[in-house]
Amino acid sequence: MKYVTEFRDVDLVKAALGEIRRMVTRPWVLMEICGGQTHSIVRHGLDQLLPPEIELVHGPGCPVCVTPLEQIDRALAIASRPDVIFTSYGDMLRVPGSNIDLFSVRAQGGDVRVVYSPLDALKIAQENPHKQVVFFAIGFETTAPPNVMAVQQAKALGLKNFSVLVSHVRVPPAIHAILGSPSNRVQGFLLAGHVCAVMGYWEYPPLVEKYRVPMAVTGFEPLDLVNGILATVRMLEAGSIEVNNAYGRAVTLDGNKPAQAMIQKVFMECDRKWRGIGMIPMSGWCLRPEYDDFNAEKRFDVADITPQESPLCIAGQIMQGLKKPHDCPAFGKECSPEHPLGATMVSSEGACAAYFKYGR
Ligand code: SF4
Repeated sequence: MKYVTEFRDVDLVKAALGEIRRMVTRPWVLMEICGGQTHSIVRHGLDQLLPPEIELVHGPGCPVCVTPLEQIDRALAIASRPDVIFTSYGDMLRVPGSNIDLFSVRAQGGDVRVVYSPLDALKIAQENPHKQVVFFAIGFETTAPPNVMAVQQAKALGLKNFSVLVSHVRVPPAIHAILGSPSNRVQGFLLAGHVCAVMGYWEYPPLVEKYRVPMAVTGFEPLDLVNGILATVRMLEAGSIEVNNAYGRAVTLDGNKPAQAMIQKVFMECDRKWRGIGMIPMSGWCLRPEYDDFNAEKRFDVADITPQESPLCIAGQIMQGLKKPHDCPAFGKECSPEHPLGATMVSSEGACAAYFKYGR
């Protein structure tokens, strides 16, 4: 398949790895920001094929993992109401809150439905005018445009029974928080290609300039990932501090301008708590006040829920590149994909789940 098969070509991957081996002269710590990239790296064993000088650490870019526990508990409280149809992407259903998950709510009689798009949730709202229909709008910049479109359509249709529980996060403030930490180890970043396809990469040069850390926009196939690593190592070895686009077939500097304009109409930047990490200033998107009628947190008055995380979990340190999943004493014991204790085991894109699945 064009644009896929050629980026899984073993000989091309080997050639790029050979170039990295020839080029590298000293140790470097690189972080891939996206959970999809972590999964692909571990699945294909790319981290084990790199020369020992290159250490990959895994960033906080799995939206299911970083959705804070209180937001899961708010979803559970709303979904448990008899007047509500709660809709979500499938991967959120098994994420545990403080006590149960959305699957359990459904087993106990709650009307919890998996949808493939927020527009499916909108259709359910039109078909069920006597029920409140709520969509769990989580994700990074990539999933924001369809969520925005659903809210705009609900407003245009005058729907009174549709709302969204928003937990959107943004990548640049997370990178800012990681690089600004006194304990930061990261010397180069692989940027998330799908986020940049929507947002472009114009937000990153100021971060590169401020922290003197090069970044490469990187895709998801094995050759994309090795090319992103190669571009970053090349910049590090040459002392050139810039943003390189190693995913040119999908990403431009400006990104998708109409999508960005649409997002700005409905969302505004706000402080957001990241599960395992804590509050990162202006790292989220929230609904603008003119869309308060579609804000599930306000409609159902669940803003005061504040649960506690497991004290065993070191997911925050993993997502900042300070530890690896097997450094956690609970890994594979108290904590597994069936019984996750923390953020990075709850989703298949989480670093702990990837290490568990591929037997690290
Ligand atoms: S293995 Fe479980 S408890 Fe340990 S860091 Fe990962 S998610 Fe947290």
